[in-house]
Amino acid sequence: MNKPITLNDEVNNPIRKVMMGLEYALFRTGPLTMAASQVCIFTKTDAAMERPDIQYHLQPLSADKPADGTHRFSAFTASVCQLRPTSTGHIELKSNNPADYPAIHPNYLATEEDQKTAIESIKVTRNIINAPALKPLIQEEHEPGIQHQTDEELLEYARNRATTIYHPTGTCKMGHDDMAVVDDRLRVHGIEGLRVVDASIMPVIVSGNTNAPTIMIAEKASDMIKEDAAQTVAQAV
Ligand SMILES: Cc1cc2nc3c(=O)[nH]c(=O)nc-3n(C[C@H](O)[C@H](O)[C@H](O)COP(=O)(O)OP(=O)(O)OC[C@H]3O[C@@H](n4cnc5c(N)ncnc54)[C@H](O)[C@@H]3O)c2cc1C
Repeated sequence: MNKPITLNDEVNNPIRKVMMGLEYALFRTGPLTMAASQVCIFTKTDAAMERPDIQYHLQPLSADKPADGTHRFSAFTASVCQLRPTSTGHIELKSNNPADYPAIHPNYLATEEDQKTAIESIKVTRNIINAPALKPLIQEEHEPGIQHQTDEELLEYARNRATTIYHPTGTCKMGHDDMAVVDDRLRVHGIEGLRVVDASIMPVIVSGNTNAPTIMIAEKASDMIKEDAAQTVAQAV
């Protein structure tokens, strides 16, 4: 950006950094109290679609990797994710020792639909950045960078640079088909007395963030566990 109005500028200035710390210590306000993403947008990569297929999380900061610290220049990040990806990955148990970590195969961007969404979402982002309200504030596009123009170049960029938004679901999906792990009361098929209650039971990913739906699943499951326990007690009496 061509004005020092981002969190990068705050963090890279030692005096402003101390002020941030003081503001938090004295008033419990300021940048240290804010969520990373300040703007959320649900929109479509194709106006003809019935409902949004992508979601933005906009952060007033930028970094190559979060652990590396913010860039030395003023910038913000428009991170965009596909809401209902059609590529599915899987988790593979590497041994019968429960202490061994499983192998995770994300299988990102395997389908044509997902590849197209990745390409189009970068184009939508460029449209937003070029809107009259934002354009005067922008000095240059740091990533992907204007050298990436063709669909092939944008897809290649997405393959190399895209990462998870930490919303994995569906590894123990609820249902009654061959791939289902739990039934509609979250009981593991074929095993008595065992339930799975977490994001893994979603048959397909929700169109948005996963934390609130997971809490909803847990609330509903706790009701079902109590109902089933009450029924067992009633039958025993
Ligand atoms: C960095 C990051 C940022 C995120 N940001 C957001 C966000 O902004 N908004 C949003 O909606 N979602 C967000 N999510 C996703 C959200 O956190 C998850 O969808 C949600 O927490 C899933 O809940 P869960 O109960 O399925 O799993 P978890 O929350 O991972 O809970 C699993 C629990 O099991 C425990 N556990 C693991 N192994 C064992 C064991 N062997 N014995 C006993 N306990 C064990 C773990 O300690 C953990 O407490 C984010 C996730 C990450 C990683």
